Amino acid sequence: MQLNNQLLLKNQCLINGQWIENGSQRIKVFNPSNGELIESVPAVSEKQIQSAISAASKAIETWKHLAADERSILLRKWYDLIIENELDLAQIMSDEQGKPIEEALQEVRYGASYVEWFAEEAKRINGNILPGKSLNNKIFVTKEPVGVCGLITPWNFPNAMIARKMAPALAAGCTIIAKPSEETPFSALALAELACMAGFPRGVINMITGDSKKIGELLTSSPLVHKISFTGSTKVGEILKSQCVPTHKRTSMELGGNAPFIIFDDANLEEVMKGLMHAKFRNSGQTCVAANRILVQKKFYTQFIEAVKQAVSKLIIGDPYVQDVKIGPLINEAAVKKVDRLVQDAIQNGAELVLGGKTLELGPCFYEPTVLTNIKPDMKIFNEEIFGPVVAILTFEKEDEILELSNQTNAGLAAYLFTKDVARIFRISRELQFGMIGVNTGVISYASVPFGGAKYSGEGREGSKYGIEEYLEIKSTVLSGI
Ligand code: ADP
Repeated sequence: MQLNNQLLLKNQCLINGQWIENGSQRIKVFNPSNGELIESVPAVSEKQIQSAISAASKAIETWKHLAADERSILLRKWYDLIIENELDLAQIMSDEQGKPIEEALQEVRYGASYVEWFAEEAKRINGNILPGKSLNNKIFVTKEPVGVCGLITPWNFPNAMIARKMAPALAAGCTIIAKPSEETPFSALALAELACMAGFPRGVINMITGDSKKIGELLTSSPLVHKISFTGSTKVGEILKSQCVPTHKRTSMELGGNAPFIIFDDANLEEVMKGLMHAKFRNSGQTCVAANRILVQKKFYTQFIEAVKQAVSKLIIGDPYVQDVKIGPLINEAAVKKVDRLVQDAIQNGAELVLGGKTLELGPCFYEPTVLTNIKPDMKIFNEEIFGPVVAILTFEKEDEILELSNQTNAGLAAYLFTKDVARIFRISRELQFGMIGVNTGVISYASVPFGGAKYSGEGREGSKYGIEEYLEIKSTVLSGI
């Protein structure tokens, strides 16, 4: 990989300010687009994991007492360096994750926007003074960092998911041990290198790669770690949450979704298509807020399916570096198999294949953008997260069918609603059991939005003024005799 700053391709882990190896214990990372080996990263030993925990634990003693302004300045420097190096970061990401280079660049900027946002929020960790029981009684409410945080992130947004956790944790005065996905560690390691260049003190940021189960067990069982923030599958979220119980850690969980994309017949077709193409095809459909089930009111169906056919057949699939390519490979062959299994199951059970529905000769990780109609609520594709470029369409007649159809899932992350009837917008969105609702838009995630889910999609919010609260503890000092 040829970068402007070759130092950004790190094949080591960061523990207590030192970049470390682990001899021959390494994990190879492959480019999903062409199958080539990119590099390998260490599979850290148990001892190294413990040193990362103890480094974070020592560093917090000074980091938490730093003036908010000083933490803010460091975060801002880190942000500036991310932006200065955005092209290298996009290239690293595109190589390890497969998303088209322009989309990778957008993700780098999106991730950086959280660093910028929390550089500012660091200065606004305000307390409160409340009246006490009597006149000479006052309650001082202050906020303190939670402590040492373990951050575990997935491969679909290798830069933004970890930036969205690291920035508020650091702003709040917490120290961290971050573990990116073993599929895409280089984007995160490059961010750590830039943080070192920005001047974060040693031990404040530790980043390790390796056996996820072992790292998860040690982070969750250590009494020195106070909080786990996780983004990934519901299954692993449940494991981590239960592992956190004995040491009473705080947790933030951003887990799977199964977003309904509801279109009423008074919707604006242009807005619907813009929203759909973003919410469905960004990252080839590999997002937890992806439109998973398209629910279209009958009268709108004919114009909608024509527009979908046109838009989807225009999508260019291929090498992430080729201009105008919109759909890259999926992350690995297992992901392709899973998508194909859901598509074939739907077809066998009566769905109609309009476009796509097969793998491509471009490589084993490519899956053709697919459109299925006549989807039924009992099909697997309606009930599982597809995580691929498949538009699965079901029609409905009346508004009163919508809530049952939409809420028929344990996932409660995101939903989309397209209608111009304001009363209906309030009526429906009030009853949708989802943490985020996009109304006449497919764009629901940026720094000022509280991002997170309801039901099995997890707990806690990232981004916005609420995101920093996940890393803060409230202390009440009740003053008397004054
Ligand atoms: P995905 O299906 O998106 O890969 P996962 O939940 O499997 O989602 O992975 C998300 C993150 O969780 C990755 O960093 C992965 O390495 C990590 N992970 C997977 N299994 C465990 C585990 N048992 N304990 C801790 N982390 C895990």
